[in-house]
Amino acid sequence: MSAETEDCLFCKIVAGQLPADVVATSERSIAFRDIDPQAPVHCLVVPREHHGDVAVLAAADPALLADMVALADEVAGDLADGQYRLIFNSGPRAGQSVFHVHGHVISGKQLGWTPA
Ligand code: 5GP
Ligand code: ZN
Repeated sequence: MSAETEDCLFCKIVAGQLPADVVATSERSIAFRDIDPQAPVHCLVVPREHHGDVAVLAAADPALLADMVALADEVAGDLADGQYRLIFNSGPRAGQSVFHVHGHVISGKQLGWTPA
């Protein structure tokens, strides 16, 4: 691991150094249940490669972002009815606390709209 990734929680989960409840995988991404779920289905979709946030990832490797979105869609189809919210918090003031890009897949109930 590089200096950037050796302290990264999600790099450690990807590497199998920390446990996670993995629900789906692709060659380039994994999905696991959030440790503090905010809905009946609340999973995190994470690329196996380290990128800090969704804009950095989109610029560096748009195909990998597309892979994450496809995996999010698969998770929502497998664990719920295929309807979901996909959230990327970007920056601490937007609620980002882990600086390895991840999409929150929120599903399994009628969602309200109070994001701010
Ligand atoms: P953020 O706040 O960066 O958008 O999202 C980070 C998410 O990671 C939070 O929803 C938090 O509950 C989740 N999380 C933090 N630590 C762990 C962990 O060790 N395992 C899992 N599965 N989720 C975690
Ligand atoms: Zn990482």
